[in-house]
Amino acid sequence: MPELPEVELYTRYFAEHALGQKISRVVVRDARILGATTPARLRAALTGRRFTRVRRHGKHLFAEAESLWLHLHFGMTGELAYYRDTRDEPRFARLVIDFAGGGHLAYDDMRLFGVIDLSPAPDEFIYAHGLGPDALDPRFTPGAFTPRLVGRRGAIKALLMSQEIIAGLGNLYADEALFASGIDPRRPAERLSTAEAGLLFRAARQILRQVIKRKAMGQTYPPRYLIPHREEGERCPRCGGEIGRAVVGGRTTFYCGRHQK
Ligand SMILES: [Zn+2]
Repeated sequence: MPELPEVELYTRYFAEHALGQKISRVVVRDARILGATTPARLRAALTGRRFTRVRRHGKHLFAEAESLWLHLHFGMTGELAYYRDTRDEPRFARLVIDFAGGGHLAYDDMRLFGVIDLSPAPDEFIYAHGLGPDALDPRFTPGAFTPRLVGRRGAIKALLMSQEIIAGLGNLYADEALFASGIDPRRPAERLSTAEAGLLFRAARQILRQVIKRKAMGQTYPPRYLIPHREEGERCPRCGGEIGRAVVGGRTTFYCGRHQK
């Protein structure tokens, strides 16, 4: 499921392949992927324009086409594909953008949990949807993160995934950040110390940066991560403790029963 690192790579992919090219045709293959817009409105808005800028916030991608914004959310299985030969169109392409130069950009999404929409400018969208700062925003600091958590009710993992406190973490990397900082995902946020909140914030950022770097180079996850050991009864790569499974915030959660407290 695409979280911040995957969407960051889609953003770079979009920038590399789609910026600056004139849009010659917009084909909606499956209108169920559209948010509030319609195929006709999307076609009218984009045809003849060029994408001039692309930006990511959390798990959201925003592409500007000459002062209009296209918003992409990748749901569970969304991804982008750029190709020149139409026979390479991916199987679950829901939207295809043809460029005057002969290339095609498809948004592929088997499960259809993603969303494509026309959007207000990203800052307005972020405000309207109550999104927190992007997890990798250089201006975001432990000192800004901690007060966003303090006084909040609920399990720490559920809050990390909510997107309101920090934008970009989903099920996988919320678990990973808690694993790295030795915090039990079920712990109530109100029982987190300032020092622990700082540790968690730094761990989350370090993990996200490392994953982006490794994925960009086609590498797998480090063996000391929880990710390769997400199975009940596995051994923790850090302390040898037993990996446990729980449901937190409605999502399947893995943690080390020994070093996460
Ligand atoms: Zn452990």
